[in-house]
Amino acid sequence: DTVYLNGDYLPLADARISVMDRGFLFGDGVYEVIPVYNGRLFRFEDHIRRLNNSLRAIRLELEKSPDQWRGIFQPMLDGDKDQYIYLQITRGCAPRRDHGFPEHVVPTVFAMCNDIKPFAGRLTGIKAVTLDDTRWQMCHVKATALLAHLLLRQEALDRDCAEAILVRHGYVTEGAASNLFAVIDDELITPPNSHEILPGITRDVILELAQANGIACREDIIALEALQNASEVWVTSSTREIVPVVELDGQTVGAGTPGPLFHRMDQLLQAYKQSQA
Ligand code: PMP
Repeated sequence: DTVYLNGDYLPLADARISVMDRGFLFGDGVYEVIPVYNGRLFRFEDHIRRLNNSLRAIRLELEKSPDQWRGIFQPMLDGDKDQYIYLQITRGCAPRRDHGFPEHVVPTVFAMCNDIKPFAGRLTGIKAVTLDDTRWQMCHVKATALLAHLLLRQEALDRDCAEAILVRHGYVTEGAASNLFAVIDDELITPPNSHEILPGITRDVILELAQANGIACREDIIALEALQNASEVWVTSSTREIVPVVELDGQTVGAGTPGPLFHRMDQLLQAYKQSQA
């Protein structure tokens, strides 16, 4: 369990940061989660591009090239396992707790590598519940301040559901920790990228695979009512991949089992992962 912290590799139990770290005091930081298959970082450039967008959005200046990041992660990888890198960067420690950005502060950089545990709901399907999207207006930023996400996910869990699907102004945005796809009239639809959703890397891969394989697909807003009448609903993320929703708000989705397009896209995704590993 060796982790990276500010230039050093050390056992997880020995990794320490100050209570004055702005990540701890304010949630003043951003993060990334990058899957690793067969020792290879999956869609690495895309993840680093999103990281740089997140850093820029919160005005945190930290310049590292993709190769520098790769060099930091490499010693933690184990080629025999499916893993993911968790990378977190905060604005660092200031002498006082003050909202304004401190001057001459050194960002805190932390990375660890964990095994990807296969998510049981991926093949059986999950229950999901729609909830009011209470998050802020910068959901395209992968910020460590996740309190709204946590409350929404826990509300779903309390209702015996594995994910919350979020609703703004009558249309659905994404899951508490996932992007959203629906099959409506034989067409695969996902909400367009905007400040209301995280631009998911898995989402991009699915859109590319649909395009390359002649699957009718488009980015469009999805009304709550349209989602509730969809023949398939999926949520997607790097660590869980494509997860079919078989029950939404207590109502069966489609036949109540993972649908045909899910099986097709899951096969395409597994083949694509192999090709990149
Ligand atoms: N939306 C949110 C809010 C997320 O937290 C995540 C990642 N867990 C995603 C979407 C999916 O993004 P990715 O496919 O890059 O993991």
